[in-house]
Amino acid sequence: MTNLICSVSAESAGHLIGLVSSIPQTSAVWLELRLDLMSKDAIELARKLAAGQSWPTIATCRSKDQGGCFEQPASDQLTLLNSIPSNLIDIEHGRQYESAPIDHRHNILSYHDFDHIPKDLSDLIEEMEKNECCPDVVKIAWQCDDICQNFDALEALAARPGKRIMICMGERGLMSRILAAKVGAFGSFCSATETTAVAPGQLSIREMLETYHWERITAETKFFGVIGSPVGHSLSPALFNAQFEQSRFDGVYIPLLIESEDELLRFLEGCQRKSWLHATGFSVTIPHKESLCRWLGDRADDAARRIGAVNTLHLVGGEYRGFNTDYFGILEALRLRADLGPAALRSKCVTVLGAGGVARAAVAALVDCKTNVTIFNRSVDRAAKLADEFDCKALPWEDRTKVGADLIINCTSVGMTPDIDSSPMPAGSLQPSTVVFDTVYRPQDTALIQAARVAGCQTVGGLEMFIHQAAAQYRIWTDTEPDISMLQQVAQQALDVDVATNPKDRQ
Ligand code: NAP
Repeated sequence: MTNLICSVSAESAGHLIGLVSSIPQTSAVWLELRLDLMSKDAIELARKLAAGQSWPTIATCRSKDQGGCFEQPASDQLTLLNSIPSNLIDIEHGRQYESAPIDHRHNILSYHDFDHIPKDLSDLIEEMEKNECCPDVVKIAWQCDDICQNFDALEALAARPGKRIMICMGERGLMSRILAAKVGAFGSFCSATETTAVAPGQLSIREMLETYHWERITAETKFFGVIGSPVGHSLSPALFNAQFEQSRFDGVYIPLLIESEDELLRFLEGCQRKSWLHATGFSVTIPHKESLCRWLGDRADDAARRIGAVNTLHLVGGEYRGFNTDYFGILEALRLRADLGPAALRSKCVTVLGAGGVARAAVAALVDCKTNVTIFNRSVDRAAKLADEFDCKALPWEDRTKVGADLIINCTSVGMTPDIDSSPMPAGSLQPSTVVFDTVYRPQDTALIQAARVAGCQTVGGLEMFIHQAAAQYRIWTDTEPDISMLQQVAQQALDVDVATNPKDRQ
């Protein structure tokens, strides 16, 4: 079993008590006592915690060279470590401890590189495993600047189950932290709270247990994720992991920060080759939807190819298939929130604002429902090109208030956080008979939605579209039905947390 090691540092004994009181005492949860980040009275308490054995413990006193705060000589470092009756002590690779020889305590031999992956990882592992301190566990952590380095970490872990910890630090390395349980790592580190992480990319114990359901991850767990840049605020991990948990589906869904197309293709090919990963499905977001569609060619379905964008990948039988579920999400939101199913949409006059990725999905869906679509976009050439492709009309952005519409759908980013006071339609230009659909859902109550409500219009929010495009992804990947109301609840909670932590956002 892979241990979840919760690092604790504290400025006082009281602070330490507060932190550990919320850490579950289950067999797989360890405490790492970060002595270099503790006051004297907190160290005294740490000593008692280690002796008390409520949790198995690791005593760590990280030197400045290795990213910690301990500035005294190595002999003092080891004396302090030896004074803590922990199950393991952390010994730093390359540190000269001669003045106080290691007293044969069980130990983790650790090495950190805050710039890049070690030049020859396997040689370094071999050298560390042969070290005279006879390490029980070898730990190597490095700053990850390419998502494919997670493969190196996971493969090194799988080669010696229970004996290694390999961590890709930073946002790109989440995969190595979460999938460590899949490949039999000795442990993966987390923090006691969201604000007390001691290394870049470290998740809190709450996130590990409640969002990623760490305790359920096994060698067989299927791997899913959202690919894009940025992905840090994506609602999708909360949604899909909650659905997996509720359905007892053996899967885990992770944010995957990937910036360049080259990195993306190497990642996808890696997932294809490494069957032990059980990679099954990926959501795809900015900036990769269009390039992925080109890469897939006829492995993307008809709707995705017409839209020119793929937001869903399914890896099945060793082959990727691409889909665009935004198309479905837009139609479902209109059907459920405005009673505008495909039959009701027929012959309606629709104003589409924008000509980017979401606008392309909206235009394809609305043209398929035989509506009369007029596209307005800030860059008029882009609108004209889109109108040409889908055999509809394009008019200058400035004319968007001059044309009557049964439905206005905002597919621009205008009104999105932090630009929450902007609206793509001037105040007072909306007619009560018009249905107004804003695909923006951060915030939910955009300036456009507020103005539409004041004008007496029926409104459709972007969250509805988001939920239904996610539900369609879930069906593609699992061939089972998601619980829509649960997904709505989870998304709402996640947005509420966002608003609480960022008051500039609003509901
Ligand atoms: P995109 O491809 O980058 O397109 C952005 C669009 O916004 C372009 O048409 C752009 O016009 C226009 N735009 C940007 N700033 C503008 C401004 N100041 N004034 C007028 N037009 C402006 O992005 P996308 O993928 O289509 O996403 C667009 C929005 O949809 C996102 O911001 C997001 O809020 C929303 N969205 C919702 C969902 C959902 O499930 N509800 C999913 C994805 C996205 P130019 O062509 O002139 O640059």
